Amino acid sequence: MSHPCLTCGACCAAYRVSFHWSEAEPDLGGAVPVALTETLGAHQRCMRGTWSDQPHCVALAGIVGQEVTCTIYDARPSPCRELRMSWEDGTPNPQCDRARARYGLPPLTPEDAARAIAH
Ligand code: SF4
Ligand code: SF4
Repeated sequence: MSHPCLTCGACCAAYRVSFHWSEAEPDLGGAVPVALTETLGAHQRCMRGTWSDQPHCVALAGIVGQEVTCTIYDARPSPCRELRMSWEDGTPNPQCDRARARYGLPPLTPEDAARAIAH
């Protein structure tokens, strides 16, 4: 079974994904491609497409709930690295559950996470 996130992607199309601007500044060690971001206030940037009533990150390829890929996976910003799937650490994550619900996907179960981690 593939990792549940690879057939989901809901959190990449549910929230504004914002972070400190330095994450998109190569001179400061930032790896996020700045062209895929937009300015958000004085100190932040956000992934293009996510500052919207119907967020959808520009870096997300595929169809939410079917098959998805982050096209900048190794260079994704901190909020993406920090958002864990439900039960990954033994507890549910409302952010994961809410994003999935938005696309009619059931919340992950502890068994889903255990299977994913085992692979
Ligand atoms: S963290 Fe949750 S909402 Fe995000 S892709 Fe994975 S399963 Fe889907
Ligand atoms: S950068 Fe990648 S992981 Fe982050 S929201 Fe966009 S598609 Fe999802």
